[in-house]
Amino acid sequence: MDPLVRVSLGARRLLRRGHGLATLGGLSVYVVAGGATAPIGPFLCAGFAAWLYLLSTRLRSKLSATADAPWDLDLELGIALAVGLNAALLRFDGGLDGRFSPLVYVLVALVAAMARPLAALLVVAGILVHEAALRTLLLHETDLTPLWIHAAFIGAFALLSLSFLRGEVARIRRTATARIEEQIDRLKQDARSYRLLGAGEASAQDDGRGEDRLTRSSVEEIHLSVHYALDLLRRSLGLHTAVLLWLNHAGTHLRISELSTVSDEVSDVPFAAGDGVLGAALAQRAPIALHSLRPSYKIPYYSGPSPVRVLAAIPVLEEQSVRGVLVIDRVTAKAFSEEEEEVAAQAARFCLRAIQNERIFVQLERAKVEQGKLYRAAQALGAALSEKDVLDAAIKAAREIASFDLGMVTVFDEPTRIHEICAAAESDGDNEWVGKRFAHNTGLVSMVVQNRCPLPYRAEHDPGQVVLSKRFAWPQQRSLLVLPLILQDRALGTLILSAKRRNAFGDTVRPTLEVLASHLAVSFANARMVHKLETMATTDGLTGLLNKRAMLDAATQKVAAAARFQRYLSVLIADIDFFKKVNDTYGHDVGDVVIRGLADILKRQKRATDLVARFGGEEFVVVCEQTDDKGALLLGERIREDLKKTVFRSAGTTFSVTCSIGIATFPEAGRTWEELFKSSDEALYVSKRSGRDRTTASHAPRKSMTQPTRYPAPSGAPPATATG
Ligand code: GH3
Ligand code: MG
Ligand code: MG
Repeated sequence: MDPLVRVSLGARRLLRRGHGLATLGGLSVYVVAGGATAPIGPFLCAGFAAWLYLLSTRLRSKLSATADAPWDLDLELGIALAVGLNAALLRFDGGLDGRFSPLVYVLVALVAAMARPLAALLVVAGILVHEAALRTLLLHETDLTPLWIHAAFIGAFALLSLSFLRGEVARIRRTATARIEEQIDRLKQDARSYRLLGAGEASAQDDGRGEDRLTRSSVEEIHLSVHYALDLLRRSLGLHTAVLLWLNHAGTHLRISELSTVSDEVSDVPFAAGDGVLGAALAQRAPIALHSLRPSYKIPYYSGPSPVRVLAAIPVLEEQSVRGVLVIDRVTAKAFSEEEEEVAAQAARFCLRAIQNERIFVQLERAKVEQGKLYRAAQALGAALSEKDVLDAAIKAAREIASFDLGMVTVFDEPTRIHEICAAAESDGDNEWVGKRFAHNTGLVSMVVQNRCPLPYRAEHDPGQVVLSKRFAWPQQRSLLVLPLILQDRALGTLILSAKRRNAFGDTVRPTLEVLASHLAVSFANARMVHKLETMATTDGLTGLLNKRAMLDAATQKVAAAARFQRYLSVLIADIDFFKKVNDTYGHDVGDVVIRGLADILKRQKRATDLVARFGGEEFVVVCEQTDDKGALLLGERIREDLKKTVFRSAGTTFSVTCSIGIATFPEAGRTWEELFKSSDEALYVSKRSGRDRTTASHAPRKSMTQPTRYPAPSGAPPATATG
């Protein structure tokens, strides 16, 4: 924030808050002046009421504050309590050294523990100043020893409270946070060792709360099932402990996954997987049983020497890979029978199935979630009709599937071999990517369009790799994915996603993003088609002007608006003279060139608000808003002269043509589109009949020199013609 703004905001807050502190200052002066011991009267009542009001409002704010209260609120509250306490001591305890005087230490301890440090410091200073003022000015004490003693005690109380209480609160907060983090970490390790998550996946999905919940409930479900099996096993075989030890994701260490035991000396610390009898069972992939164990025999899942006499370790195998080991032990010397070992092996298989079931469940849940996202994306894309809406919907849908910092859609124009950025969304505010163009090159986007497959292979951004083109520096972000928008074996463009964090577009989201990209390609092509059809339906193919149908719709609205706002509106019809002759002499193609020539003149001469249409053949209509007959006559003349000056070429010769124009102005020449069109057609006929190459208005222009925007009462003047 600008320092000036900060200062002015601070000053405003001080002013707003200042009245509380000022009142408290007044009250403390009143107490020093002997107000607290004065007989009950209006002053005392007013002072007490002001104090009570301040205390109650500040207390309410403090108690309702959800975060740390502002320090000035703590200051006001502390000073209000101090002034109140001193006043009460003076009135009811006979002075500042009475039986209840130690209450001030309670107050100091309270303030030091609860208030923000700066406020606490200021309140303690305020208490001391107030007491000094009371003792010297009100009580006229000359020996100030009690004041110094008080000050020393107050300081000591404040310091003790500050350091002990705050230290203790911080310690509890730290241990609680550490415990929660440890639990989360353990959960993730478990999820990874049970293959519920891929190696890098946990971090990639961290921002999905649903995913976290799913993982947590799956891990809990596994523990419940495994514990049930182990407990049953322990009770039925009379075991000391039945424990499932599981290998970590890297396969280096074993750790207790779940156990059922009667021992109090179990150690939940991971240990190296290759050591001792457990290591041997894992290496041989076969059960191993030991009996007649001595008390000194170290079993890694017990913290000290154990009374165990027999032990069996059954490795847990999943598709030829060792995942863990189920260990059973007993304190009696009776070795495990074959039957007992088989029961244990079955329990091990049960545990493995519990884990596999959860894995499938997690995969199904994930697939369901992904399908839901795709379904919503498909709906949004289907509902979007314009190109912009489609692109916006696609970027929004991509955000639901994977979180990214920069998302973009590029479109490739094959005839010009130019890529253009049509949409972009950046997490850090506005972006200036949209509209940027670059030629087909060796960058990633061009390669993706060329080869129609996503890049980079691992969705990791190599800083040396050009993404768009060398001209546009790509932000230094770790993850990058460029997906082709494929439609009928052709790449229309790309969907680019980029993220600062590593592994943002892992295996779980990439297939979904690829499906989204193909949805986007179809919807985008559809939107383009709709746009093209709309254009074709409303424009004339030869000239690019409006066609007759589109003009009729728009002109009717313009006439209605002119009537509503009482504004002039003029209609011009221009028709090329002896056009049949041009066709006959130079051919139809040259005739088309002449038609386009007049169209270009009309486009050039018209204002932004005018409508121009080709009505068929070599006949054009112009509708001019807020233009009276004089203005229309001027425009008609400009058009006529412009065409007359234009030189056309054909087979080595040059020629030029003229046109005739008819004008009708609302409201004199007609109040509906039909009337206006008829009037201007009649005026055109007058132009043709009077020798062509001229402009005729259906009514004589009014005499005024300025162009009024609103029309006066209609006049019945005869037609007027202008020629060059
Ligand atoms: P006038 O001065 O009375 O207008 O005489 P004109 O010969 O121009 O007569 P008219 O306006 O009736 O002629 C229209 C001609 O325009 C008839 C047709 O051959 C020609 N025409 C219509 N559409 C096209 C077109 O798309 N291209 C070309 N080259 N000629 C067209
Ligand atoms: Mg003609
Ligand atoms: Mg004609």
